Amino acid sequence: MKYEHLYVVMEHEGGKPVPVSLEMLGEARRLMDGYNKRYNANEKVVAVVLGNNVRKLCEELVYYGADAVIYADSPEFEYSRNVVDTKVVSAIAVDKNLVLKFSPQSTDFVKPHYMFFAADNIGRQLSSTVVGTLDSGLASDINKLVIDDLEIKHEHKTKGQPVMYERTLEMYRPDFSGFLWTTILCLDNRNPAIQRDYHPQACSIIPGVFAPIARDASRKGVIVDYTPTFDPGDLQVKILSRKIVKSAVDFDSKKAVVSFGRGIKDSPEANIRLVTELAKELNAEVGVSLPMSKKPFPVSESVSSTYMIPDRVVGTSGRKVIPLLYIAAGISGAMHHLAGMKESEFVIAINPDEEANIKDESDIFIKGRMEDVIPVLIEELRSVKPAMEVRK
Ligand SMILES: Cc1cc2nc3c(=O)[nH]c(=O)nc-3n(C[C@H](O)[C@H](O)[C@H](O)COP(=O)(O)OP(=O)(O)OC[C@H]3O[C@@H](n4cnc5c(N)ncnc54)[C@H](O)[C@@H]3O)c2cc1C
Repeated sequence: MKYEHLYVVMEHEGGKPVPVSLEMLGEARRLMDGYNKRYNANEKVVAVVLGNNVRKLCEELVYYGADAVIYADSPEFEYSRNVVDTKVVSAIAVDKNLVLKFSPQSTDFVKPHYMFFAADNIGRQLSSTVVGTLDSGLASDINKLVIDDLEIKHEHKTKGQPVMYERTLEMYRPDFSGFLWTTILCLDNRNPAIQRDYHPQACSIIPGVFAPIARDASRKGVIVDYTPTFDPGDLQVKILSRKIVKSAVDFDSKKAVVSFGRGIKDSPEANIRLVTELAKELNAEVGVSLPMSKKPFPVSESVSSTYMIPDRVVGTSGRKVIPLLYIAAGISGAMHHLAGMKESEFVIAINPDEEANIKDESDIFIKGRMEDVIPVLIEELRSVKPAMEVRK
């Protein structure tokens, strides 16, 4: 077959896989196990790794579900750089000789059937440049995947005739603020007038939505070494120094997080003050929904620069938090936000809209406006605190 196997482009920090890499690998394993059974096929899950001294990582990736790992090892890959990474990942994706090392029957191989990237800062950019180079289409920020045979009738793609597209990857993404799902298909043009293939069917995957499979050190796989060649133009971007700035926002050691969202809109400055007072009473860190980091409402400079910042965003575009107590004030509960807080031990939501998604994630849903609810909570906390201190 011209298009075979599922390639998963890994990300790692100094040889340690970032969580989304193992999550993608786990989902790839589940999908391809089902696929191979259904179609009586033998297509592989192939992890692709660029890095410096990453041989050990390759073995780990086999334990986490890869049938094969293709890796390029060079000091040039110590840190990610889009131009050179794009060139090498794209070259790996079309290299038939590499494929023959783990799938000798793939003599007609042209490109991967499917390809996964992480929907994070590195993967979002790399996915677009690699898939552009491979001349196919990309679905970004995906949180559900299904492979199925679909009958499609399309004015251009099928010239209006029903055509069966076999083994098609249905890529689901949350849209319209995360409350509707769109299914994206990457389909070949079967209209004779504009015939053209689109492979790999590729997507970037939201961190935190799929579970990795359990590590199994008895799992066997093939590790294939790829030797890249570099042109001077590939290496024009040089990393002269790199500093990891530790965030001043401390979600990790605090036992509680109080987050606010667009629900502050009626009196933004006063409502943020209420949220921060509540956080102070609970010795909690303050989080925000993504729109807050775009500073959508006028507030004083000190409040804006302290609270409406990307560092405080909870969710797929920000941080994952797992506190004992999470309070969501004026947050609707879009899927992107939930992914960052749903593992919290106990969740309280404050929202006047009973239909808000966050209700389903909450242990306690307080129906009401934050302007009315938070002052009562603060008063109550202040009144019980002295009693708690006496009991100590
Ligand atoms: C690729 C992508 C990535 C994304 N990543 C993230 C992410 O990491 N994190 C994130 O949060 N979002 C993310 N989003 C955005 C996400 O889809 C939602 O748009 C966003 O979370 C909604 O923010 P919100 O809940 O503050 O606002 P809204 O959805 O507008 O909800 C506001 C809520 O406030 C309530 N409300 C109104 N008045 C009051 C009041 N007086 N008191 C209390 N409640 C009130 C309303 O009933 C409503 O439920 C992402 C979107 C995309 C497309």
